[in-house]
Amino acid sequence: MVPPLYPDYPPELSSAQEQYLLSNLKDWSIAHGLAVRPAPSFVPTSQDPSGALATTAPVTLFPSLFPRACFEEALAIQKAYNELYSAIARDEEWLQAIVEELIGIDDFVGKLWQTHLEVKREGYVQDLSLGLFRSDYMVHSEPSTASPSIGLKQVEFNTIASSFGGLSSQVSILHNYLLTIDAYPVSATTILRKSSLAPSDSSSSLAKGLAAAHSAYGSPRTSHPMCVLFIVQDPERNVFDQRHLEYALLAEGGVRSFRLPFHRTLLDTRLEADRTLVYVPPSIPSAAYEVTTVYFRAGYSPDDYPRTEDWRARFHLERSRAIKCPSILTHLAGCKKIQQVLATPHSPHLKQFLPEDNVASRVLATFAPIYPLDESQAGIEARKLATDPESASRYVLKPQREGGGNNIYRKAIPLFLESLPEKSWPAYILMEMIEPPVLKNAILRNGEVQRGGVIGELGVYGVCLWRNGSGGDAGEVLQNWEAGYLLRTKGNQSEEGGVAAGFGAVDSCCLV
Ligand code: ADP
Ligand code: MG
Ligand code: MG
Repeated sequence: MVPPLYPDYPPELSSAQEQYLLSNLKDWSIAHGLAVRPAPSFVPTSQDPSGALATTAPVTLFPSLFPRACFEEALAIQKAYNELYSAIARDEEWLQAIVEELIGIDDFVGKLWQTHLEVKREGYVQDLSLGLFRSDYMVHSEPSTASPSIGLKQVEFNTIASSFGGLSSQVSILHNYLLTIDAYPVSATTILRKSSLAPSDSSSSLAKGLAAAHSAYGSPRTSHPMCVLFIVQDPERNVFDQRHLEYALLAEGGVRSFRLPFHRTLLDTRLEADRTLVYVPPSIPSAAYEVTTVYFRAGYSPDDYPRTEDWRARFHLERSRAIKCPSILTHLAGCKKIQQVLATPHSPHLKQFLPEDNVASRVLATFAPIYPLDESQAGIEARKLATDPESASRYVLKPQREGGGNNIYRKAIPLFLESLPEKSWPAYILMEMIEPPVLKNAILRNGEVQRGGVIGELGVYGVCLWRNGSGGDAGEVLQNWEAGYLLRTKGNQSEEGGVAAGFGAVDSCCLV
């Protein structure tokens, strides 16, 4: 167990020490784009009418302690996770059986599926798919057992818009810098050493993934120069996180990219007769670009589709010749329901997608118990747990949504389910809460230092480029690598961990 072993971490700071640390942290953050646009609650729009201001991203003052063995295992199995989700995205029949249980009760999943079917009817013209994934974990501790143990348990697997790869690289460099300039007191340096700090190359490594897709696209079909298109929300407070990927893609890959607000898709892009996607930037008169790769940092939430045009926009991009990151099938593979089906005890599914036993068993070891809320035997058992306030307090209820703020936690579950017609219950899954050890740290958010008990969530990025195949051809993985990590840390009083949602902070690992 980590906390009892390191009760003095992080060290107390005198006010002079804290001032030195904070002034360096704040300046370094802004100078290196470890930044976000301010929340309107922090800086009202009236005070920043042109949207020119930025502020430091919420960060921890110290890198949080993280068990080295768990960290190394999470990184080591990322390629297997990439392979698993690529295989799922390629197995339309398998996905369909699961998605069909959701269609009638989850409108968003239903619309995604219909959009895929519509494209399938006329035939996909792009056989390649890109995944920029992030597998999220917590360290689970079981202090109550005779021999206390810790292990890595997966919170979820993200297949769309996995964020913070840009800021994560920066925060690992920031913590290293603070150590270098003696902003951490000498008393901490027995634990906090250069060799314990884990850098994250997520920014550059994810950009390499986009560059790999760009290059795999092959020769242009038009006379236009080629580009990658970032499909974004507008406004986007977490814009610098995305900018880091854009800048790395240009500086290291020589690839031009543009940001297109999702709601402008039909205005600023067109399809040629052969469905080549052409981007016509409103800002550059008479210029046009052939889009090799569409990278979605929007489109994962029903809120991104307020108008029927928005579904037409998703259809338009999906049927285009550009490589999608992710395709709709890959997006759907990230449904929490898929994670639940994989985690079903003794299920053959994992083995089907990961035939090597030693690989499958390491992935399996990271699954936490997850149950359906349908009418199967397991579902009926889970319904009993979820509707009883006492037992529900060990669980979280999740719909098929992304982006944070959608879950129902612990004692709130029975009342929530009561308010929902029973026929909608299968749209949710019930997951056992992972109970990570509570550590100490301090978070700088909106200029204020918050101190207290914190828990960490480790995300490991993965890049996977594959060929889908069709008919009897099962396709194949062309590129597959682990792409750095993210540590998000939140106060232990909050159930949600999202940084953008205002709960967590970006952090880096001090391995112990
Ligand atoms: P989303 O796709 O919206 O990010 P998550 O499954 O990651 O959904 O849940 C959001 C947050 O809820 C996580 O970042 C984590 O803090 C918390 N959470 C989710 N599942 C669990 C779990 N099984 N145990 C503990 N915390 C969890
Ligand atoms: Mg998610
Ligand atoms: Mg999450």
